[in-house]
Amino acid sequence: MNAKTELKTLQHWIAGNWVDASGAETFDVLNPLDDSLYCRAAKGTGADVRSAVAAARAAFPTYKETTPTERERWLLRIAEIMEARKAELLDCLIDEIGSPMQKALFEFNKGLTMVRAAAGLCRNVRGETFPSDVPGKFSMSIRAPLGVVAVITPFNVPLIKTTRLVANALAVGNTVVHLPSEMAPHLTVLFAEIVAEAGFPAGSYNLVTGFGHEIGNDLTSHKDVDFVTFTGSSVVGQLISEICAKNKTPNTLELGGKSPTVILADADLDKVVPLAARSIFMFAGQACIGSSRFYVERPLYDSFVKRFAMVASKVGMGDLRDPNTVIAPIISERQRKRVKDHIADAVAKGATIVTGGQWEGNRCQPTLLTGVTEDMTVCKSETFGPVASIYPIDSYEEGLAKANDSEYGLSSAIFTKDIDKAFHFARNIGAGMCHINGATIHDEAHVPFGGNGESGVGREGTDADLEAMTELKWITVQL
Ligand code: NAD
Repeated sequence: MNAKTELKTLQHWIAGNWVDASGAETFDVLNPLDDSLYCRAAKGTGADVRSAVAAARAAFPTYKETTPTERERWLLRIAEIMEARKAELLDCLIDEIGSPMQKALFEFNKGLTMVRAAAGLCRNVRGETFPSDVPGKFSMSIRAPLGVVAVITPFNVPLIKTTRLVANALAVGNTVVHLPSEMAPHLTVLFAEIVAEAGFPAGSYNLVTGFGHEIGNDLTSHKDVDFVTFTGSSVVGQLISEICAKNKTPNTLELGGKSPTVILADADLDKVVPLAARSIFMFAGQACIGSSRFYVERPLYDSFVKRFAMVASKVGMGDLRDPNTVIAPIISERQRKRVKDHIADAVAKGATIVTGGQWEGNRCQPTLLTGVTEDMTVCKSETFGPVASIYPIDSYEEGLAKANDSEYGLSSAIFTKDIDKAFHFARNIGAGMCHINGATIHDEAHVPFGGNGESGVGREGTDADLEAMTELKWITVQL
């Protein structure tokens, strides 16, 4: 079954059917490279969300009784179909959200890994037995799926987030209602087609496209939603957190970042500079775990700035299908304004643009700033563009203190040969993830991925999602 992609007018996938929005309205999805019309998608309403939740609720009693073998087979089949439809998925990642081919391939391969790792979860939904103080009492726990999981995903890595969160939720026996970013509905429609073709029962996975600020509340506050997993901006995360707290709906929030990289005087710049460039320029800095703050010990500072600028000025900005292209267009006019404002504010307050700062169409050149001070917006706020600030530090301790001077706490990195300082940093940085001698951008299907403070609550990944998306029930039998 196919959505009407040939017309590029996408529909919702609810209860095993492709349906238009109840108000029959659509919205335009633009290709961010040139703002041309990419497709139209159903403009979901509150009624659509309620239909999708009702479908997921109705499917749950049957779906939760499916066997691990069935769910494992369906999930592995998703991976097979993804491979068969690879060209289509890559085209979508390129034309819908402006991914350069190398980022699209990275995302595709990561997505495959996410689905296959989720298949391994199906057999791991298990409890324990406990000794009892009561003679003849057999005591145990079982792990059970929660019910309906609301999955809300962002524009920047739609395939990674969809494959991870939807697949993990389905693997452990939940049914799903998915609200993707209004900037990436086609990718998710392709995924829904694949889920359907893989054999998942009607209603186990439901997709509603539309604007989160219009229909998000209908989903997150619905009494039949048993878990919310949200990835997106910290502002929206705060709203969802308040709704979930009111309704006592368990949730995980994966939010924004301003991830630091600390480079000590004994680091090897030959290795550090390419990783630094990858950390901030991949997908033009539109990565939650991108590093936008570099703290460099004074003896290496000048050399690092010079070498980083040289690499930055050569980062590929060509055709998105050229494998050497790194810099993507910035996703929307609103987001472009944000990146421009951050740079302009920094310059107006005295920062120096070492390289970049100009735009080529909707693409911002890789931009490095020095002389950034606390009163500049770029110092503390998430830019979500290819813009990094480089700061000199006089000691490791100063680097740790400055790295920790942020409301965010997602990823972090330190480059040094000093194992004591490296581990001290890893244990004392206020971030959910730390990479010693590696880039802040790193993710694997089974690791605990997530952050603290403004970067979110909870972790995701196979083990973390298994725990978060199921509940333990204690059962005794008096023999
Ligand atoms: P966004 O917050 O604008 O949108 C994310 C999702 O939330 C979309 O699906 C949107 O439709 C939905 N939404 C909007 N308002 C809502 C509401 N009131 N209720 C429910 N849902 C609502 O974020 P974005 O611009 O798509 O993505 C960029 C942000 O996501 C950045 O801040 C980035 O750091 C963050 N992000 C975090 C991670 C992570 O794992 N921590 C990963 C990727 C992106």
